[in-house]
Amino acid sequence: MTVLIILAVLLGLGFGGYKFFKSRSSVETGGKASASDTVPADTDEAGTTGGNAGTDGEADGSGESGAEPDAQSGAEALISQARGLAQMYDYDGAIALLTGDTEYAGDPAVQEALKEIGDEKATLVRVNPQEITHVFFHSLIMDTSKAFDGDSREAGYNQVMTTKDEFLKIMESMYERGFVLVRLHDIAYETTDENGNVYFKEGDIMLPPGKKAFVLSQDDVCYYEYMDGDGFASRMVIGEDGKPTCEMKLDDGSVVTGDYDLVPILNRFIEEHPGFSYKGAKGVLAFTGYNGILGYRTAASYSESPTYESDREMAAAVAQCLRDDGWELASHSWGHRNMGQISMENFITDTTKWENEVETLTGPCDIILFPFGSDIGDWHAYSPDNERFQYLKSVGFRYFCNVDSHQYWVQIGSDHMRQGRRNLDGYRMYYDLIDPEIDHLSDLFDVEEVFDPARPTPVPPMS
Ligand SMILES: [Zn+2]
Repeated sequence: MTVLIILAVLLGLGFGGYKFFKSRSSVETGGKASASDTVPADTDEAGTTGGNAGTDGEADGSGESGAEPDAQSGAEALISQARGLAQMYDYDGAIALLTGDTEYAGDPAVQEALKEIGDEKATLVRVNPQEITHVFFHSLIMDTSKAFDGDSREAGYNQVMTTKDEFLKIMESMYERGFVLVRLHDIAYETTDENGNVYFKEGDIMLPPGKKAFVLSQDDVCYYEYMDGDGFASRMVIGEDGKPTCEMKLDDGSVVTGDYDLVPILNRFIEEHPGFSYKGAKGVLAFTGYNGILGYRTAASYSESPTYESDREMAAAVAQCLRDDGWELASHSWGHRNMGQISMENFITDTTKWENEVETLTGPCDIILFPFGSDIGDWHAYSPDNERFQYLKSVGFRYFCNVDSHQYWVQIGSDHMRQGRRNLDGYRMYYDLIDPEIDHLSDLFDVEEVFDPARPTPVPPMS
């Protein structure tokens, strides 16, 4: 009897482990939401496991314990943890970890690792903050057949969106060329000098020779109502592993969870390529407010909806999860307004709405990514009598980003920072592709390799 119970438990473990593996692998293939994603391990597979119960049950059991980290000695585990930090350029953290360990600091292998990490650290070069590029995206197109289906939204998606395949190719290329993701707050940040004066200080981003820092952002992470049925994720959620992930609705109305937009796709890329992220940096995510954020209908106009309160709670929880995961959160104005052009009265009304309806979910944000790239000043430094700058500063903003196709556009003032952002979308890629005289992208990737053949061409010009 006891033997039978043990057998049953082992079988359960084996099968559970298999199911876990299967669900994970279906997530990895992500992208196309096929029916197989939702199908659990079927009866045939379960039957196979059952048929070999006598031996396979036990093999599965030992296989699982073999995957436990205790296979490493204490010193080895410590060293691999330190190497993990150094891979993401946290050399000081790695050194502190090794030298601070009371049990293994004297171990010869630990001493050797310490020397290697110290030698690597000695080769680092400070990144020039003026030479940091910033690229941005919108929600990624997961299903090109739905986005490019000839309806009235097709042209807009074709111009300003990027497909999943394009995004992955761009990340691969940038990784191969030595780009490393950094936070806006790594480039420059507010601090206080010895006399108590608040000022903006350049950050000391230290990278190995040949590496280049860059910032990545994603605008309109709202999963607007109009995008429903057009081949995009439907909202962001917290996955079973506690990390941010996405939901996508299938044609039959069922919902699948997995890598259906930039956040989980980039997270997985960084898991596989830790050297792509400086100390765990991710991207900047910018929200408008009028449709709610992250796919939750959190705007005041939905306050009569039965799910309004739960939507607000879940949006706030996902926002916190994103912050904990290394993402920076930003304003994109409440109403996707042209912040450089609208009246001062509307400017204040919009900003107040953003504070009330969005910042109450995201927590304090000091970054604004201007919709349409419409800055509140020209290329000269913001003057102290710039009313809009002073207003945004008074409500907490310190980082101001426009859109600019130059490789670098960085201004670090005494109390703020500005950066230009480059759109890596269908419009930019198509016109670079067809005209050899135009080159906005070759420092990042080869557009011929990246441009998705699923796009209808010509991509319409911007009016
Ligand atoms: Zn936008």
